[in-house]
Amino acid sequence: MLQQTAVNVPSRSSAIVAVEKLVKRFGQFTALNDVNLTVAAGEKIVLCGPSGSGKSTLIRCINHIERHDSGRIVVTGVELTDRMTDINSVRREVGMVFQSFNLFPHLSIVENCMLAPIKVRGLSRKEARERAMGVLRRVRIHDQADKYPGQLSGGQQQRVAIARALCMQPKVMLFDEPTSALDPEMVKEVLDTMMGLARDGMTMICVTHEMGFAREVADRVVFMDRGTIVEEADPETFFRAPRTERAKGFLQQII
Ligand code: ADP
Ligand code: MG
Repeated sequence: MLQQTAVNVPSRSSAIVAVEKLVKRFGQFTALNDVNLTVAAGEKIVLCGPSGSGKSTLIRCINHIERHDSGRIVVTGVELTDRMTDINSVRREVGMVFQSFNLFPHLSIVENCMLAPIKVRGLSRKEARERAMGVLRRVRIHDQADKYPGQLSGGQQQRVAIARALCMQPKVMLFDEPTSALDPEMVKEVLDTMMGLARDGMTMICVTHEMGFAREVADRVVFMDRGTIVEEADPETFFRAPRTERAKGFLQQII
């Protein structure tokens, strides 16, 4: 029998991501301990918590960059296991945006966006270029398409990184502190891009301490500490009335 942990948690059958009793160790150190998280299609989750609480590790396990030790992770209906022969079949459904943009410096903006659709999805160059230009237009950066990453601001590069992920037409987007390496004046343009995606109905898991974004966009805020999910609630409830001392202490520090 599958159990639901709370009334507002979607059933696992409709889940895009289902994490169950997840444990991840690095040597003797347990980075994730019994983590359960279910994300339905179209849901937006903001994941927050102190540094070292396991947020990146959780995101990296969901994208199978890290192998978990026990528990289950099911992404778009496919279970991630050590024995997987075709991890790319899952990974191409999952878009990932990191703190550092990781664009290929020797490729133009549009070429950065064309690469994976050609290599992984098998699109022709023409198809990939058309798709890339459409997505670059959507994040309002198409006028930079023929420039190189080094010619763009940090905020623009991060929007290109988002566009590049979108060109794979992922079913879920994972963000790991996408604005924390940016100068303050560039944060808004990236958050605006993410809000646009949210409005378009994208399923999103966002590690961010941008609480304005969380209030506006999140269906649920998930608060982690020391490798476990300590609290989860809708943003209004989480910010107004955090239940645990740990969440209260965290909010006092960041707000
Ligand atoms: P957060 O993203 O919440 O700041 P992380 O998921 O990066 O936290 O890290 C959680 C814990 O796991 C930290 O104590 C970190 O030092 C540890 N950790 C993360 N990656 C590794 C690794 N590759 N090897 C050893 N320890 C790691
Ligand atoms: Mg992190």
